[in-house]
Amino acid sequence: MRFTIISKNDEKSKQTRSYITQELEKRGMKEDKIKPEIIISIGGDGTLLGAFHMYQHLLSETMFVGVHTGNLGFYADFHPEESDLLIDLIDRKEFVKTEFPLVHVKVHTDNGEENHLALNETTLKMVQGSTLAIDVGIGGKHFEKFRGDGICISTPSGSTAYNKSLGGALIHPSFQSIQLTEIASINNRVFRTIGSSIILPSHHTLNVYPNKNDTHLLTIDHLHFQLNGISSIEYKVAEETIKFARFRHFPFWHRVRESFISS
Ligand code: NAP
Ligand code: MN
Repeated sequence: MRFTIISKNDEKSKQTRSYITQELEKRGMKEDKIKPEIIISIGGDGTLLGAFHMYQHLLSETMFVGVHTGNLGFYADFHPEESDLLIDLIDRKEFVKTEFPLVHVKVHTDNGEENHLALNETTLKMVQGSTLAIDVGIGGKHFEKFRGDGICISTPSGSTAYNKSLGGALIHPSFQSIQLTEIASINNRVFRTIGSSIILPSHHTLNVYPNKNDTHLLTIDHLHFQLNGISSIEYKVAEETIKFARFRHFPFWHRVRESFISS
C-alpha cells in the first residue's frame, strides 16, 4: 500500500514518523507523497486538518488515520506507543473505511465564484471586528436578519470543536448534516435571530447575503481568507466525504466522554 505521513514538528511526532516510515518500508510498502492510499497524521487534530487540506484533491481515493502525540484527538485513534500494532494492521489491511460528512462553501464575489471544503467548520466574520450584518436564507426563503460577531457552520465531526465552544449541539458523524451556530448575535427590538443552533439535512441549503461593500473574514478550519465584494455564500453538505481507516471500535460518544468529562 502507498502511504504518506504528515507530522507535527515536535520531537515525539518526528520520532514516531521516522519509526513508522522505516517499519512500513521494511514490509515492502512505499512512501508516496503524490498519490498515497493512506495518509497517516501524527500530532493533534490540527495536524489532521492540515493533512486534509493538503490532500483534499484525493478524497475519493485516499483515507486517513491519526496518531495523537498530544491529548486525545477527535480524529486520531492511536497512541505513538501503539505504532507496532498500527503497522501490523496496515500491513494486514485489517481496517474498515468510515466516511464523515464535509461542508461545501460556495462564495460568490465580484470576481466570480470560489469553492471550499471544510472538515470542522467555516465561519464568517468582519475583518475589522465590527459587527457582521447579513440576511440568512434557508431552502431559498428568507429566514432572518443576523447582526453580531459572526456565524459558524460546522460538520458533525467538527461539532466538538469551535461549535461546542459556541454552545452548539454535538452531532454524531453518521448524520449527513451541517449546523449553523451564532457567534454573539445582537437581539433587541430591531434585530432578531432565532438564537438556537439549526441543523440542516443534506438536501437543504443555507444562503447568506452580506453587504457587498464590506470586507469579510472567511475561515475554513484553520485557514483564513480576507474577501471583498461577497454577494452571497451558499453552504451545504458536500458531495465529497473524508474517509478514515478504522482499525478498531472507538465510538464517538466514548471520545466525547474521554475528552470532555473524564478518561
Ligand atoms: P487550535 O487552536 O490548536 O485548536 C483549538 C483546539 O481545538 C485544539 O485543542 C484542537 O485540538 C481542537 N480541535 C480541533 N478539531 C477538533 C474537533 N473536531 N473536535 C474537538 N476538538 C478539536 O487550532 P488548530 O489545531 O489549527 O485547529 C483549528 C480549529 O480550532 C478550528 O477548526 C476550530 O474548530 C478550532 N477553534 C476553536 C475556537 C474556540 O473553541 N473558541 C476558536 C477558533 C478555532 P489539537 O490540540 O489536537 O489540535
Ligand atoms: Mn492544534
